Parts: sequence; C-alpha cells; structure tokens
Amino acid sequence: MAKIAKVVAESVKPTFSVELWPPRSPASEAKLEQTLPILEKLHPTFTSITYGAGGSTREKTHDLVLKIKRETSTEPMAHLTTAAHNKSELVNILQRYLAAGVENILALRGDPPLSGDVALPPGELVYAIELVELARSMGDFSIAVAAHPEGHPDSPDLKTDRIMLARKLELADMAITQFFFDADDYSRLVDDLDRLGVSKPVLPGVMAPTSLKTLERMVLLSGAKIPQKVRRRLDGAGDDVVAIKTIGVEIATELSAELLKRGAPGIHVYTMNDASTTVEICKSLGLG
Ligand SMILES: Cc1cc2nc3c(=O)[nH]c(=O)nc-3n(C[C@H](O)[C@H](O)[C@H](O)COP(=O)(O)OP(=O)(O)OC[C@H]3O[C@@H](n4cnc5c(N)ncnc54)[C@H](O)[C@@H]3O)c2cc1C
Repeated sequence: MAKIAKVVAESVKPTFSVELWPPRSPASEAKLEQTLPILEKLHPTFTSITYGAGGSTREKTHDLVLKIKRETSTEPMAHLTTAAHNKSELVNILQRYLAAGVENILALRGDPPLSGDVALPPGELVYAIELVELARSMGDFSIAVAAHPEGHPDSPDLKTDRIMLARKLELADMAITQFFFDADDYSRLVDDLDRLGVSKPVLPGVMAPTSLKTLERMVLLSGAKIPQKVRRRLDGAGDDVVAIKTIGVEIATELSAELLKRGAPGIHVYTMNDASTTVEICKSLGLG
C-alpha cells in the first residue's frame, strides 16, 4: 500500500486513519512511544503527521514520518506547509521524502504570521494549491489537501472558499476536513463540491473534545463552531476529567456514525497523541 488516496477511493469498507503530532519534549516523546504500538494494533489505513506552522517541527515531523514508514505497518502521510518555508526549502523537503520512499503528503498553507500584509518575493508559494502543483511537478506523490466544512476563516464568504477548494482538489487526490460537530456541514461541503464538478474523496476529520476551554482555543483558529448541544454536554461534566473524556468520545462516535451513514469514505481521527480515546472511538464504530 503506498498511494493513500487510491486506497481510500477504492476501499469497500470505511477507512480509519489517525493524526499524530511530532513530540516536542522528552515527556511527549515517551508518551508517543506508548501510543504508537497501541494505535498500530488498530491497523489504521494511514497515519498523518502534523507540521509546525513556523517550520518548528521540520526535523521532528520528518523523523516521525520515517519512523512510521520503517518501523510500523501503517503508511505515513507527511503534512507540509507553504507558510513555513521558501520554495527551495520546500523542494528540499519534498526531495528528501521522495528519496525515502514517502509518497503521501498533505499539502497545506499553514497559518503564517506573514500571510497578512507582507508581500513575498516573486516565485514564493502562498496558497496550498501552489504546493500541490510543486509536489506534482517533482514526483509521483499522492496528495491530500485540507477542507473546511464551515468555510475557511480568511475567506470573504463560503461560496468563494468552496470555489478555491474545488480548484485545489481538482489538482489533488483527496481532502481531509477540519474538525466540526454538525454532520450537515460535511454533507453541504460534499454537495457543494459535487455541484462544482469535484468528486474526490473527502475524509471527515473528527475530534473528541477534551475540555471546553481547549476546544474554545482551537475553534479560534479553525473557524469551526461549537454547537450549543456540544457546549451543554461538555459543560455538564464540570471539572470531572473522566466524565469529560467519556462525553468527548461519545460526541466523536455519534458524529462519526452519522457521517458514515451519510456515505463518508472513512473517519480521520485527530488523536492529539492520546491512544485511549482513539481506541474507544474505533471500538464503538467497529472500525480498524
Ligand atoms: C486536515 C488538516 C490538517 C492540518 N494540518 C496542519 C499542520 O500540520 N500544520 C499547520 O500549520 N496547519 C495545519 N492545518 C491548518 C491549516 O494550515 C489552516 O487551516 C490554514 O489556515 C489553511 O490551510 P489550507 O491548506 O486550507 O490553505 P489554502 O487552501 O491555501 O486556503 C487558505 C485560504 O486562502 C483561500 N485561497 C486559497 N487559494 C486562493 C487563491 N488562489 N486566491 C485567493 N484565495 C485563496 C482559501 O479560500 C482560504 O480562505 C490543518 C488543517 C486541516 C484541515
């Protein structure tokens, strides 16, 4: 198995995949060492590895991608952002992946501090679509891109964002969504893409919220909404960490089940490097 988008497109049963962060401290490295074998037992279709927006995880992402490629039975998908690098650095990173046999990337813009008023020199990459074009020109990559069911926060409106996404997805092979909590947002995204003539796989990204505070911080960047019923359920658990975890898993499982019922090709879990939550979601859905 090498080209993840092809596997997702051709799979007769829903796929189950996970996202991991590269560890940033000895403690998180130790946690990841425990998490990896547990996740491997779930036989995820693939494991995607995030990239620090400012390039801060450059080597750590690379190392974890190669570790997963060489030491586990799951296929890695390497996230990469235009925001972090100039074009020649991006070329180097992609060349290194090609040389190591890493064929799957998630081409992203990232959230650059520079994205506002600072003009980039000509020839530098801004949008994710330009990274898709660059990777395509360099080798036989299978390329995924990000999709935002509720619209990307920088977009003037949802319609414009959908048109931009459709253009990007025409060149790429599949999309993975930002997390969201309302299945209707996913259905609307798929329907809009369909109307724009794009029918590549769109994997919903699902997250089990671990606290209302963390979730509120995350939605600031992502443009996702926290529906009242999700807010109420998390609020109801107060400070009880175990109860919050149980509710978070329930929220993620219920949403995933609904998405699969509506024809989603699989579920991509934002694990936040926590194996136990992911195992619970996987078990409840009968996936993996
Ligand atoms: C599955 C997933 C994984 C992620 N992983 C990471 C990660 O590892 N590291 C990280 O830093 N971030 C990550 N992100 C966050 C992502 O980088 C941000 O959401 C970022 O703000 C947008 O990235 P994008 O690739 O969607 O950008 P783009 O597709 O470039 O879109 C960004 C904005 O520009 C608009 N746009 C696109 N093309 C054009 C154009 N040609 N002209 C005008 N406007 C245009 C879009 O409508 C949108 O509003 C991830 C997001 C998702 C959904």
